[in-house]
Parts: sequence; structure tokens; C-alpha cells
Amino acid sequence: MGNLYELATTLRLPQQPVRSPMFIDGAHYTGSTGEYVVRKSPGHGVAVTETLRASAQDLDAAVAAARRAFDDGRWSRISGEQRAAVLLKAAQRIRDDVETLAWLETLESGKPINQSRGEIMGAAGTWEYAAGLARVVHGDTHDTLGDDLFGLVVRQPVGVVGIVTPWNFPFFILSERLPFALAAGCTAVVKPAELTSSTTLRLAALLSEAGLPDGVVNVVTGLGSVVGQALAEHRDVDMVSFTGSTPVGRSVLTAAGGNMKKVGLELGGKNPQIVFADADLDDAADAIAFGICFNAGQCCVSGSRLVVHRSVEEELVARIKAVFEKVRVGDPLDAANHVGAIVEARQFDKICGYIEAGRRDGAQLVYGSTSTKEGERFFIQPTLFRNVKPDSALAQEEIFGPVLSVTPFDTTEQAIELANGAPYGLAASIWTRDVQQAFGSFRRVQAGRIWVNCTITGGPEMPIGGFKESGIGRETGRYGIEEYTELKSVHVQLGKRARWIA
Ligand code: NAD
Repeated sequence: MGNLYELATTLRLPQQPVRSPMFIDGAHYTGSTGEYVVRKSPGHGVAVTETLRASAQDLDAAVAAARRAFDDGRWSRISGEQRAAVLLKAAQRIRDDVETLAWLETLESGKPINQSRGEIMGAAGTWEYAAGLARVVHGDTHDTLGDDLFGLVVRQPVGVVGIVTPWNFPFFILSERLPFALAAGCTAVVKPAELTSSTTLRLAALLSEAGLPDGVVNVVTGLGSVVGQALAEHRDVDMVSFTGSTPVGRSVLTAAGGNMKKVGLELGGKNPQIVFADADLDDAADAIAFGICFNAGQCCVSGSRLVVHRSVEEELVARIKAVFEKVRVGDPLDAANHVGAIVEARQFDKICGYIEAGRRDGAQLVYGSTSTKEGERFFIQPTLFRNVKPDSALAQEEIFGPVLSVTPFDTTEQAIELANGAPYGLAASIWTRDVQQAFGSFRRVQAGRIWVNCTITGGPEMPIGGFKESGIGRETGRYGIEEYTELKSVHVQLGKRARWIA
């Protein structure tokens, strides 16, 4: 622990991979396979962590622990005040541990160290926000059912929740789900992505130190096709919250059908940046560059499609290019870099494939496309394509890399049509100084999150989630806790009940 802290604060690479066991029923758990996933830092090409590859039996042990912890009421039946106290302590433990958590996050994900620090501190704020909700969640009463009947609508925790998370924001995305499930009184089994499991495992230990009872949060690591699939199918799990790609989300939906478990899905996006002719182009250019470069474009809400009024297209493209020229891509442990590494070889090859396809399809390359694969380090410069056909792969598919496609429009009608013309509906940004245009557009754009004259910003107060193939349900905000509850209608007879047979 002390050693890790020293390595983290001096931003050095570990000499040996940091090995983390799983966490089940309040204790470290080494599992049944003895097999480890060795993770190499995509920014440095050296082995940095090792986590266990669990079996379906290990998952059964975790689900059994979560089931016991839920059913005996050690967490589900204590007061909101008591739950809030633990969640607040957890937030403080996260803040105290920011350096080590951020260092591990950067080593495994390749994201710049300052971004990791920001995400960990932001996540701590989300734990604090959710702590407040533990004392706010409530039901309704109905005093309008007549003199003899009174109605109560009670919100109860849904039960054991399986949470499956992706590699792009391992700690932050988990923190947009887990504290809300816990605030509601649920217990959980978490399955992080196999590339980035270490901060989730470390969080489980911090939660225990904060006073979370044993068995309330359990972490099982390993392959999605084994452990994630078994979690989605498990009959003792009452809900699954899955964040990841749309194809895997579809298979989770099918797997969850076995016991009709409740499902929350946060999936992919192909998010438009809609720029009208009257927009502040300087501001838009900076934000659009940020929106596609943030996390190297490996972000579900990356603004990857620029839909811009023809009269300002050339000017805006020139300004975005000027911002791209200043973006520093490189070693994620060097705090001067804006963009870190691409997470792994497969993702790197996929992005390069899209860049090639863009060229083949006749799109005009304005900037970028330079990629570096030195040994096992993967970097891609921000890339900008003009004249992208709306039905081409570049404009329709989630690339999950720093590749921006530009398509012009002439009328507002065309802009809305282009914005809504992809299968996803996760997020959108609208750039205009005209309040009528802004309101008129956000009403018609099909997306769960809209930014007007800004992008990728917000707080845990605001709900997140998608329209269309971007998912089902909402996380965070007061809706975030409601997702993890079931409603129960209670009818109370007052006075004497009228007899059926007198
Ligand atoms: P992925 O779908 O490959 O994996 C996500 C998680 O699912 C991982 O933990 C993985 O191990 C697990 N998994 C894999 N197969 C599974 C199966 N059959 N059953 C259950 N779980 C399984 O996604 P990824 O590559 O890790 O992440 C990138 C994707 O996630 C992108 O499409 C991105 O848009 C999406 N994403 C969405 C949001 C959002 O909030 N909408 C946020 C972040 C990422």
C-alpha cells in the first residue's frame, strides 16, 4: 500500500505487476482458476497489473454472498441515514486515495493522469450526491380512493444487482451506478472490464473500510463472455445494469430474460455536434475538438459527427484544425499531454480501419490519421474528415477513437434529419446564439443528453441514458436511485369491508 502510494505520487511504473485478488463477502478471494489476466499499460507497453480470471463458480459464490446480505437486511433494512453515513465515508476514502486510484486508472486505461485524477474526484462527488438520495427516496400516498380505502405506493430496493462496466471510464462509470444502487438498499456483484479491473477491486476494499457490511459489494473479475454472461443469466440476481457496446447489450437483454430480471442498459453513441450559422465558432471549435479528443475519443458521448451549416463549414473546419494542431498526444503519465493511449491493439486496429474506410469512401482527410504502434504502445492523432456521406460507415458507426466526420446542411430540417439519422440516441450538442433555434432543435433531437453551447459537462444531478439503440433506463440524478427500486402498491381497508356475500 505504502509502496504503491510512493510509485503513484512519483508517477513511476511498477517493477512488477500490481496483483489484486477478487473481493467477495468482505474478504479477498483468489477464486478457483488460479489464472491471471496480465494487463500491459497501453501507454508504456509493460505489464502493470494482474487480476484473476474467474469461473462461473466464483460468480456463484459472489451472488450467494450478495443474496445473503440482501435477504438478511444488514443493508436493505437499515435506515437511509445509516446508509448515507457509510456512503459519505466512502467518498472521503476515495478522496484520500485519489493518487493511487488515478495512477492505477492511467496505467490500465491509458488516459492522461490529470484526467484520471479529475475522474476520481468527480466520482467522489457522485458518492456524496448519492448519499443524500439515500435519505430522500420515498413513495406516495393516495387519500382519494374513497372513505374506506387508503393507498400507499412504497419504493423498495430491487434486490441483488449485477453491474457490468466497460474499460473507458472504469471508476467513474461504476460510481454513476453503484452508490445509487447502495443508496436504494440493494446489494451488488460488480464485473469490471478485464482490461481495467484494478480500481474497482481497490474501491471494494475502501468501501469495507468505510463500514459497508460484508457481502454488500462483491467484485468478480474475468472475461465478459464467461462471468458477465453468467451474471446476466443468474436466477438469483434481480437486476442487471450493463454499460458497454450495443451488440453485447443486446445479448445481456436476452440473457436477462431467463428470470425476467430488471435491466438497465447504457450503450454506444454516434453523437452529433450541430452547428448553426450564428454560432460562436471559436467556442464551438474548441469544444468540438475537446469533445472528440477527450479520452482519445473512447467515450460513449464523444461528439463524433459534426453537422454544420454550409455557410460556416469551411471556417469552422479551419478553426478545429487549428485546435487539433495544438493537441499533445503521448505518454499518459506526462501531465503535459492532452490525449493518452488507445486502450489496446484491437481497438487501435479498429480505429485505423475506419480511417482507411473514410479515405476509400472518398471523404476528404483534413488533418491527422497519424498513428503510432511502437511495440505495445498505441497512439492516434486527432483526425478530421470533410465531405463525409451521411450513410457511410464514418458517419453511422461508433468508431470509439479521435476521428471526427463533417457533413454540411442547408436547412434546419436537414440538420435535424442528419442528427437523428443514426441508430443511436445517446447525446447531442447544439451550437447557436438564437434561443428559439436552441429550444426548437433540442425538442426534436433524439438523445438522452443534450448540451447547448457546451459539450461533455454536467454533474450527478442530471440523469444519463439513451434513446433508440443507446439503451434502456437512466442512471444518476434522482432517477438514478429510482432505477434500483421496485414500486409496491399497498391498499389498506379502513373501516368495515363491504361483504361479497351478505
Ligand atoms: P463491451 O460491450 O465489449 O464490454 C463491456 C463489459 O461487458 C465488459 O465488462 C465486458 O467484459 C462485458 N461483457 C462482454 N461480453 C459480455 C457478455 N456476453 N455478457 C455480459 N457482459 C459481457 O464494451 P467495451 O468495449 O468495454 O466498452 C466500449 C463500449 O461501451 C462502447 O460501445 C461505448 O459506447 C460503450 N459505453 C457506453 C456508455 C454509456 O453510458 N452509454 C459508457 C461507456 C461506454
